[in-house]
Amino acid sequence: MHTIDLRSDTVTKPTPAMREAMASAVVGDDVYGDDPTVNELQELGARLLGKEAALFTPSGTQANLLALLSHCERGDEYIAGQHAHTYKYEAGGGAVLGSIQPQPLDFEPDGTLDLDKVAATIKQDDFHFARTRLLCLENTHYGLALPLDYIDQLAAFGARHNLRLHLDGARIFNAAIKHGVDVSRLCTAFDTVSCCLSKGLGAPVGSLLCGDKPTIETARRWRKMVGGGMRQAGIIAAAGIHALTHHVERLQEDHDNAARLADGLRLIESVQVDYDEAQTNMVFITVPDKAEAGLSSFLAEQSILIPSGTRIRLVTHLDIDRSAVERTVEAMHHFFIHLSGS
Ligand SMILES: *Cc1c(COP(=O)(O)O)cnc(C)c1O
Repeated sequence: MHTIDLRSDTVTKPTPAMREAMASAVVGDDVYGDDPTVNELQELGARLLGKEAALFTPSGTQANLLALLSHCERGDEYIAGQHAHTYKYEAGGGAVLGSIQPQPLDFEPDGTLDLDKVAATIKQDDFHFARTRLLCLENTHYGLALPLDYIDQLAAFGARHNLRLHLDGARIFNAAIKHGVDVSRLCTAFDTVSCCLSKGLGAPVGSLLCGDKPTIETARRWRKMVGGGMRQAGIIAAAGIHALTHHVERLQEDHDNAARLADGLRLIESVQVDYDEAQTNMVFITVPDKAEAGLSSFLAEQSILIPSGTRIRLVTHLDIDRSAVERTVEAMHHFFIHLSGS
């Protein structure tokens, strides 16, 4: 049986057309700047996101790290959300490798950081304090597309407080599709934006860091230092080009499938579904404690993969179609009928 993997949108496999693009990619040594396919990907990414330049990185974690290292110096500080990837899920790289102090703040329910709270957190210019240099946001955050009117306030806010702005845009194309706007519209306020090619866009590897030329040149030096200078990387960059040219518009299907999944699961009495208006390709469900032990293994027996636990994130992507959603909803129904009968 065909496996349905709802654990993440990172699990997508390259399509036959993407593999073909990879196999026929023209390559060179990218550390010399000689790989035409990497250069093409970087130019394409920069153009789409509305920035001067872009840098291809092996992962989103590295793209975010390069942004922290490029904006901040030793003893500087960045403000980020408590559950932000850049703070919580990147092994503390900014602190370990850059001596950059994180200042986490709680996210608001809509995935924003309250700008009054951010302003109150910025440290005064005083030698007792770290220098607050950078604000990091995330779009989407837990599958929520940040509100447009919020994004529109950011440039002025950054200028007023002399803060640089970085966007962890791992899923920025999902946000653009959700709002029905050009992706560059969501990036203008930010000095740098990272974007994953290896999530819903379906490439096997890679992210881009986009920004102004001097910042991207600084990031290039840091990338070399942390071991991210790759050689005939055109092989994987070709997958990124294919993803950006063929897999952006179709993200709408993932959002539609997530909405279908949420609707189907809502009909199961013991499942609480959190699915906000601003959601993109993620559905969050809460199941009773007594379901925790059995649910994921019951589904795994039917080749449906979900995380274990009682609060569960389900992610739709390129390899999840409508019938996969229907099969999942049906299997969940069965599980809970048995559970309530036992
Ligand atoms: C996945 C992700 C990243 C980058 O992750 P990598 O696995 O290193 O590519 C960054 N931010 C967010 C919000 C993510 O979901």
